[in-house]
Amino acid sequence: MKDFNPEQELLHARREFGEHGGVAPSISRSATFTVIHPETMPEIFEGQKGPEQGGCFLYSRHFNPTVDVLSRYLAAMEGTEAAICTASGMSAISCAILQLCRAGDHIVASESIYGGTHALLESLLIQLNITTTFVDISDLEEVSSAITPETRVIFTETMGNPTLTIADIPALAREVKGRNIKIIADNTFSPMIFTPHQLGADIVVYSLTKYINGASDLIAGAICADKSFIQELMDLHTGRVMLLGPTMDPRVAFDIIQRIPHLSIRMREHSHRAITIAEMLRDMGVKVIYPGLADHPQHQLANSLRNNSYGFGGILAIDCGSREKAEQLMDILQNQQQFGLIAVSLGYFDTLISCSGSSTSSEIEIKDQQRMGLSPGLLRIALGYTGSLDLRMEQLKKGVEKVLL
Ligand code: PLP
Repeated sequence: MKDFNPEQELLHARREFGEHGGVAPSISRSATFTVIHPETMPEIFEGQKGPEQGGCFLYSRHFNPTVDVLSRYLAAMEGTEAAICTASGMSAISCAILQLCRAGDHIVASESIYGGTHALLESLLIQLNITTTFVDISDLEEVSSAITPETRVIFTETMGNPTLTIADIPALAREVKGRNIKIIADNTFSPMIFTPHQLGADIVVYSLTKYINGASDLIAGAICADKSFIQELMDLHTGRVMLLGPTMDPRVAFDIIQRIPHLSIRMREHSHRAITIAEMLRDMGVKVIYPGLADHPQHQLANSLRNNSYGFGGILAIDCGSREKAEQLMDILQNQQQFGLIAVSLGYFDTLISCSGSSTSSEIEIKDQQRMGLSPGLLRIALGYTGSLDLRMEQLKKGVEKVLL
């Protein structure tokens, strides 16, 4: 597992040149493509004679040359046979789940997941008679006893939002071995740090909106999996990506392609700042949650599953005790100290701060928030890397001293 080097895999996969020998790939913006020989149209339409089989591109909702480049890079980075890009992280998640589940099927999901995914499982899929049992994903006995004969999917985030719970993917894979159950891992919080497919997940989903793009200027997603699953998603008659149509724009693909080469550098810097700041807060006596700290309940697990050299990620959470205190601290950190911005999302070069219970996890009922360890005063800090680290530590320290100590 530890031998997998996502950076190296990405480097080998990056062999694209633009038109006229451009060092940057070209953007292919055509919605439709010219078929030279009319008799080849049926095969091209059925996907049997795409560009890789000596045919050509047909229509950009099916496949697009620029979007395909990004899909290939992501597959290489995850070590999956293939990948498909989508218009958002939510469309990647919903299409992957809907491809696997029919009415009457059942999902076991981590309770510590993004609020939108929680709502999809709890409130939307139930209308299609697809039910979900939410579990503490770190409690393998609970996971095991939640599985029923109807279970088709275990859904988890590798590093859970916002409690930073680490999923033991190898143990989950052992649990479902030989059964008709697929593991979907959302790796949005931890690209490069974890490569869930190498650990045993069948399908890896991403919100590319976050770290992978890294500039908070677009919305995008991806599904990485075996070729057969990606083909199913693109099937003309039943493919959820093909027919529900969350197509990625080639201009968006181009932007992400140009930012992927420095993803590893960014992840290292996010992680470096997060561990330094987490240690400072811990030493100040603040209740801080960060998987890189030895007192995090899954620190050892995270250490054994991660790829070396990318750290433990750029997100930490602090428990301010109450929502009022969390809001007071956010106000000071944004409006007095200029430490960061009060905004949802993560993976930006500037620091983004939000109170999860009243924002990105607000779809989750209070009793469920309590069960998953999400207190109303939990502040999620997605650390950026602008400004010197010393300055950022000083700014945060001043805010914390005023409100929490
Ligand atoms: N997965 C996680 C872990 C997230 O945090 C989010 C958004 O915050 C999503 C998925 C949804 O991604 P998008 O906003 O790109 O649809």
